[in-house]
Amino acid sequence: MMNQTQIAIPTLVRAKEGALDRVGLYLSRAEHRDVIVLSSKGLVPALLERLLTGMKEHGINEILRVEVSENDLESAARLFANLPRTPKAIVGLGGGKALDVAKYVAFLGRTPYYAVPTSLSNDGFCSHQSSLTIQGKRRSLPAALPYGVVIDTAVCLQAPRILTLSGVGDLVSKFTAIADWKLAFRENGELVNDFAALLSDGTIHSYLSHPAFDTEGIRLLATALMLNGIAMEICGSSRPASGSEHLISHALDGLSARPRLHGLQVGVATYLISLLQKNNSERIDALFKKTGFWKAIQEDPFSRREWLEAVRVAPTIKRDFYTVLSSRDTLPEIERLLDEDPNLKSCIQ
Ligand SMILES: [Zn+2]
Repeated sequence: MMNQTQIAIPTLVRAKEGALDRVGLYLSRAEHRDVIVLSSKGLVPALLERLLTGMKEHGINEILRVEVSENDLESAARLFANLPRTPKAIVGLGGGKALDVAKYVAFLGRTPYYAVPTSLSNDGFCSHQSSLTIQGKRRSLPAALPYGVVIDTAVCLQAPRILTLSGVGDLVSKFTAIADWKLAFRENGELVNDFAALLSDGTIHSYLSHPAFDTEGIRLLATALMLNGIAMEICGSSRPASGSEHLISHALDGLSARPRLHGLQVGVATYLISLLQKNNSERIDALFKKTGFWKAIQEDPFSRREWLEAVRVAPTIKRDFYTVLSSRDTLPEIERLLDEDPNLKSCIQ
């Protein structure tokens, strides 16, 4: 008999206004009374205050609080080794680095982890991997999905607009990632997990129904990004959320003089790849116009030289990872698109 997929998914999911004040309540309901809090350095102090006040109200002991500024593996391991005693849960509050470190420390101790992102710049807050650096190089290390995902939509709405746009860019990459996955099946027989692909595809369409900067738009973006993390967990690979557009972004991280936010690179690369794939380019363009994504990139355009180099390097980054970039020499087509497509022309100079 074939094995069926069995995974651990978040037990608690809240995406609503005021959820930050209720984290203490959620912890108490789950009997997670001894807690470690890891928050981002530079986080608005009032946000941390709100978390701590809610915890106090519900009798949650804060056994340690750490402000996270570095996301290297060595610091995360040291933090784990020096924990005063085993906590019942770990809460990560803030942005990428703090959440990645909290998730990894929780994973090392098999401790329930609550992700409380204060912005939505990518789908990492609910993924099965931690993005940490090892000797200065960014690496994805195995970790576990959070026990709880708590998103205060009003808090995320207040985050700098560029972070939310980065989240939008990361989300639309599901269009091109799934097309690459299906291409890899046709060319190499790499099996597609239908449920993961379906879930991932559905997330974009739910956000497209209301891509606005209000709490409802933020709620849709948050749940869409979260479900992408779960789609990856379902099939045990990053395929449903990451294809050739992510390879270009990884290449840019390595070679750019000034790498940008993950989702900004991924979003522009998604549009570029969608033109090669002839896959939903108008939809992506319309969404980027509506949200102001294009405008934000045009204000600080990418370097054409770096992008061409990134496209050249991209297919060599991941072994056995077939995408449209492996299917043919795409460089001449891409050069032409950078010259002729008005969106790309204004964003990559
Ligand atoms: Zn991504």
